[in-house]
Amino acid sequence: MASNCSNFDPVVVIGGGFAGLTTVLALSQSLQRPPIILIEPSPRFVFFPFLYELLSEELSLWQVAPSYKSVLKGRGVLLIQDYVERIDVKAKKVLTASGLSFNYSYVVLATGSVPNCLGVPGIRENAFTFHSLEDVDRLKKTINELKDCQEEKKSLVVVGGGATGVELACKLADLVDANTQIHLIESGKHALPYGKKFNQRNLQKALGKRHVEIHLETRVLKIGSNKVLCVSYKNQEPKTFSLAHKGVVWTAGTTANIPNLFKEFPLKRGRILINKYLQIIGFKDAFALGDAACCAKGSWPLNAQVAIQQGKSAAKILIALRAGKIPKQFHFFDYGEMISLGVGHATIKLLGFPLSGTFAFLIRRLIYRAKIQRLLLVSLLLRGSFLDT
Ligand SMILES: Cc1cc2nc3c(=O)[nH]c(=O)nc-3n(C[C@H](O)[C@H](O)[C@H](O)COP(=O)(O)OP(=O)(O)OC[C@H]3O[C@@H](n4cnc5c(N)ncnc54)[C@H](O)[C@@H]3O)c2cc1C
Repeated sequence: MASNCSNFDPVVVIGGGFAGLTTVLALSQSLQRPPIILIEPSPRFVFFPFLYELLSEELSLWQVAPSYKSVLKGRGVLLIQDYVERIDVKAKKVLTASGLSFNYSYVVLATGSVPNCLGVPGIRENAFTFHSLEDVDRLKKTINELKDCQEEKKSLVVVGGGATGVELACKLADLVDANTQIHLIESGKHALPYGKKFNQRNLQKALGKRHVEIHLETRVLKIGSNKVLCVSYKNQEPKTFSLAHKGVVWTAGTTANIPNLFKEFPLKRGRILINKYLQIIGFKDAFALGDAACCAKGSWPLNAQVAIQQGKSAAKILIALRAGKIPKQFHFFDYGEMISLGVGHATIKLLGFPLSGTFAFLIRRLIYRAKIQRLLLVSLLLRGSFLDT
């Protein structure tokens, strides 16, 4: 497992999301810390599970998306705000969009995922995604426009009944006025198809209580500027129908965000194949983590829990490799699932314990805030630099 790299060259981490930032922070806390470079195009780390609360203004920007500058202050990490375009694995160099080049001893690729439009016409022109701070701003604007619109019947359509789609549908239902109908379109037989049974049941109740209209076994064929064309497979004969809309949010799936120029890496269903030490198969000095990566057998869920655990494990593996020791393999531990169900409500199943309602919402909020603080902010509070986020 040991590599012949120069220990003077830095570890270069590409992407400062859950996996990349966790790696950087864990490395920076190690006594045997290597030089560390983080390359990330955005100025702020986004804690995605809180995007719904940002939309509803239950939380503010600094609580959901602190700036990298403040997060990394005093940690001895070189932050480069840039976009990586290429990894030259032979020369062991990372090349950025603005023409910079960095040698590395090890490279960690953690570029996450982006919404997958699945080739459906009209998404780019007529739908939002829900994957960034800009998306939250756009959706907020639409909600305000809907409130000002005097029409008696208005609709907002959420496509995709996975965790993002259902959490968003519940939150939107709590934010819009009484004349706006929320529709949720899901191709499978249930909303939250990969969720825990307990959470699925509570979700059904929450959607019902909010009068969200659910279209199961339904696919979107086309999104127009004011209509969504769908096909329902509920009966033997597929049936097409259309829904008028004032806004569509596309949450139906993601795809790994791997820049074209990493062509050398082996892929499985578009994600980079890694071994149990998180190394890219065939490249012992290159690691891939989080949503961008997958293993040869089985799969890990695509979520922040996996990304954070991989980030911590990658830091330990890197430290061991640099010291010429045998590292420990990565093992994922599933702590459970937390789903927000509108303003002030949630359903959670953690370590086997089920809970729903306001108390579950508070626990979810507490756990995530503790995560942010542990991940990022404790040292900032101590240094008093919290407010410059
Ligand atoms: C709205 C929403 C809610 C979610 N809620 C939950 C939840 O409640 N619980 C949960 O466990 N998971 C949740 N997830 C999923 C979770 O956020 C992802 O699984 C997690 O972010 C994956 O971490 P990552 O580090 O792989 O990627 P990301 O966190 O997406 O980070 C990737 C980073 O790479 C950067 N990057 C991209 N390309 C380049 C490049 N070429 N060069 C340099 N940098 C680059 C990006 O700017 C980004 O900062 C949610 C996701 C969304 C969108």
